[in-house]
Amino acid sequence: YPPERIRNFSIIAHVDHGKSTLADRLLELTATIKRGHGQPQYLDKLQVERERGITVKAQTATMFHKHKFGFPDASNIQDPPNFLLNLIDTPGHVDFSYEVSRSLAACQGALLVVDAAQGVQAQTVANFYLAFESNLSIIPVINKIDQPTADPDRVKAQLKSLFDLDPNDALLTSAKTGQGLEQILPAVIERIPSPPGKCDSPLRMLLLDSYYDEYKGVICHVAVVDGALRKGDKIASVATGQNYEVLDVGIMHPELTPTGVLFTGQVGYVVSGMRTTKEARVGDTLYHAKSIVLPLPGFKPAKHMVFSGLYPADGSDFDALNHAIERLTCNDASVSVTKESSTALGMGFRCGFLGLLHMDVFHQRLEQEYGARIISTIPTVPYIFEYSDGSKIQVQNPASLASNPGKRVTACWEPSVIATIIIPSEYVGPVITLCSERRGEQLEYSFIDNQRALMKYRLPLREIIVDFYNELKSITSGYATFDYEDSEYQKSDLVKLDILLNGQPVDAMATIVHNLKAQRIGRELVEKLKKFIDRQMFEITIQAAIGSKVIARETTFLLNPKHWIPDSVFHNDWISFSLRQTLHFGSSFSPCSISAMRKNVLAKCYGGDVTRKKKLLEKQKEGKKRMKRVGSVDIPQEAFHELLKVS
Ligand code: GDP
Ligand code: MG
Repeated sequence: YPPERIRNFSIIAHVDHGKSTLADRLLELTATIKRGHGQPQYLDKLQVERERGITVKAQTATMFHKHKFGFPDASNIQDPPNFLLNLIDTPGHVDFSYEVSRSLAACQGALLVVDAAQGVQAQTVANFYLAFESNLSIIPVINKIDQPTADPDRVKAQLKSLFDLDPNDALLTSAKTGQGLEQILPAVIERIPSPPGKCDSPLRMLLLDSYYDEYKGVICHVAVVDGALRKGDKIASVATGQNYEVLDVGIMHPELTPTGVLFTGQVGYVVSGMRTTKEARVGDTLYHAKSIVLPLPGFKPAKHMVFSGLYPADGSDFDALNHAIERLTCNDASVSVTKESSTALGMGFRCGFLGLLHMDVFHQRLEQEYGARIISTIPTVPYIFEYSDGSKIQVQNPASLASNPGKRVTACWEPSVIATIIIPSEYVGPVITLCSERRGEQLEYSFIDNQRALMKYRLPLREIIVDFYNELKSITSGYATFDYEDSEYQKSDLVKLDILLNGQPVDAMATIVHNLKAQRIGRELVEKLKKFIDRQMFEITIQAAIGSKVIARETTFLLNPKHWIPDSVFHNDWISFSLRQTLHFGSSFSPCSISAMRKNVLAKCYGGDVTRKKKLLEKQKEGKKRMKRVGSVDIPQEAFHELLKVS
């Protein structure tokens, strides 16, 4: 397939507007996958993607299609397909816009899918601009026209007024009933330009993505920009200077299908004996060793918006967690990882994520795909502090900000974002109130049609990673949509808030907050924490403090021995949070309580059913494992998440 017969395109849309379903239909139409293969959303391969119904990783599939364009007699069914199409599915959620822009770098065009009933939403706007700035040809697709509330004309008017897209160019489809789908591939072929590379120039290819496969080693997804790549070729990396031999090369059809060669304009995979995905730098240029080429533009490095500590739930699992993180970051290179240690939690890692959902997904994948059991600390955004000696540091871990560093903090800055919010006009009032509570500054307020308003706000990042979207959804009956892009650092008035258990600061719970909110946040934090740790066998004082000043205090109740084992102790979400060296509980808690617990478990059985008894004992063993350390406070993992929601 010469470049003129290749089209590389992607599908972009607001979440749930139907891009994965549409991708499935296109794969079926081209017989790339069988119709009714029983596995909806073929490209959403990860378990988290299936569970949450979201696309996290962009996936690529090659399709072959027969088109009459320029070849009038290609209607002969004997003829083989005459076009090669690469479809690159992209994630829709804000946190993954990094994946979106990466996918777009390999494309010349995009299908902009909009739900015919919901119309243009916040991520439609964000994704449109990503595609527009990459100079892609955009084909508007108004999907879900089968719905009773579909109003394609209104959507056409929105596309015109917001993006200046010609309403006549819009395709009307239903990925559910199949209506209108036959227009899509001809439009892709006729309206999207072929890839611009040169066949006779030396090889240059862009490394799009990489992941680790147990059998083949590192598998790289690449877009061949110029020249051709063959099995056996010697290639080199611009980023690392390393040389490799191409052991296998092929296309995703949609499973890895060896072809022995990739030509100019094609997207495919390469296996080249790379050992770790650290060698496979996303955005890198690969070329034939010994040839001389100019590197491709590459990608902007990922910007980490949220940092949190990751620790093994059981201290001895450090190496296992280390291994799991290494493997997973191979598949998700947008996570940054550095080692750190905490007095409360021991050895662990400080990880940087693109957003909270990204963080959640990373945790979930660690647990599901690698069986890791983890504790993550309260997430924080990266702040900048300046000291009286003129030094400036970026703070990724609040605990690292010493309460008494011997030098004065002279200024601090926090990251801000520009948020786009689209809402039905009647919700404008509550949204303005919410944004000003979150320290927002209004930048734009306009109407995209007579029913919907578009607002732009500058907001501190810290205020939106904290439950902002849920709040926004709830005050607008679920109608608001929201997206954001990161913006510059803004001067702020910040303080470090410590949480103390029995007088000892718990480094893993320190946060940085705005001075004006510190009092209230401190109060709410200790109240929340009390709810999470009030069923223990010893009394604990919980305090919030700024420097040496305690601003809130609570004491836990002693657990009534009659209800000694709350069921929740045995549930998986309870994780023993050890305070090893930091806390001494004296005699109020001793190993003998373990046997007391055992008695209690069996007491609930009324001496009856044996299998039930066995099950309970097994469950208890499991529970004991998680809180086996004497002198430990049990804090469920979810407490860290709940704490974050206080803002
Ligand atoms: P994505 O988040 O953009 O990938 O959206 P999905 O493809 O996951 O679709 C979201 C939901 O919309 C799913 O429940 C689909 O079954 C449904 N859906 C997709 N296309 C259509 C359509 O044309 N009509 C209707 N009625 N539902 C659709
Ligand atoms: Mg999807």
